[in-house]
Amino acid sequence: MTLDLARLRAETPGCANVLHLNAAGSALPSQRTLDATLGHLRLEAEIGGYEAADRAHADLEGFYPSVAKLIGAAADEIGFVENATRAWDLAFYSLDFEPGDRILTCVSEYSSNYISYLQVAKKTGAEIVVVPDDSFGQIDLVALQRAIDRRTKLISISHVPTQGGLVQPAEAVGKIANDAGALYLLDACQSVGQLPIDVRAIGCDFLSVTGRKYLRGPRGTGFLYAKRTTTAHIEPIFLDNHAAQWTDDRAYTVCADARRFENWERYFAGVVGLKAAVDQANELGMPAIWDRLRELADALRARLSTVKRVKLTDLGKVKGAIVTFAVDGLDHNALKARLRERAINVTVSTQFSSRLDLRGRGLRDVMRASVHVYNTEAELDRFVAALDAELTHR
Ligand SMILES: *Cc1c(COP(=O)(O)O)cnc(C)c1O
Repeated sequence: MTLDLARLRAETPGCANVLHLNAAGSALPSQRTLDATLGHLRLEAEIGGYEAADRAHADLEGFYPSVAKLIGAAADEIGFVENATRAWDLAFYSLDFEPGDRILTCVSEYSSNYISYLQVAKKTGAEIVVVPDDSFGQIDLVALQRAIDRRTKLISISHVPTQGGLVQPAEAVGKIANDAGALYLLDACQSVGQLPIDVRAIGCDFLSVTGRKYLRGPRGTGFLYAKRTTTAHIEPIFLDNHAAQWTDDRAYTVCADARRFENWERYFAGVVGLKAAVDQANELGMPAIWDRLRELADALRARLSTVKRVKLTDLGKVKGAIVTFAVDGLDHNALKARLRERAINVTVSTQFSSRLDLRGRGLRDVMRASVHVYNTEAELDRFVAALDAELTHR
């Protein structure tokens, strides 16, 4: 199946205003997602918020099977959460760590996750083990296998880091985790919506996702996948009257499915909007989206490799839709600002997002240009020409 690129672009209103190379920050939503979100907000204003939720019942409930289909899960393994960090936190902080328990992670790990490891290590005496990279810059599977021992409680990595094209071998890591009987938490914030995901093939216990990045959903949305057999043994760190029922003056029962990780109040327009975005990804087909994104990213890397003073900085055996590079002798933030004046959106990834990786490579920060299906080769030409112009004039 191939994508109707002209149509996808025509149905993305933002394309008329900006050359958007910041899908990894927040992608441009389609008209359909915008209509779904705004439609629900309008309904809330017109008939009342609770009454609007009743009327939108089918879409609000349909969110779960739509997401489940996208990642190969069951509908009762999905919980709506307001962003990827909180989804990840709900899984991580619900685990009981004891002194000496080990958390295995990777060099390119996301800062918020790592801060949480540090906090839990400080509070519980658990230990953090950073597994080194192999020669491709992905997690070294042999070293990972070797690092596993009886004390390994959790393997926790980011599938695609925020600061580059790297795609981690999530399935191979899952095989090692499952064989060792360790829990496996996968931060799939940048990968869901970018590439095909099958949680059963990956073998993870938890997977955290945001709405606004590669899924092209509204901001303030995300979800947690929690494997059914794992969930049964884990009581969430937080409970409310949605995640649990107050069954007796002295007792409560925790909700049986992944909704035990949800809260009662939420961004309902966001749920409806994210469902629309997920449905669209399902209809287009993730294999077709992934093929097109790699085609665009490879084309961008090829163009950038011809620009003087530009050095590509993406790692990985498999490289995806996030393209990063360093520009010699130019302040990246200033360059970003000048491109913004030309209505070109790129960003700068810093050690603030991933200290171990960028610092380890001697990079203070990198320019990041992240493509999505609404981008075209003509836009890549325009972007590289603008970059070239900025470089020759300074
Ligand atoms: C953006 C990002 C997050 C955080 O997602 P939020 O929705 O902002 O909480 C987590 N992990 C990775 C790898 C990211 O790129």
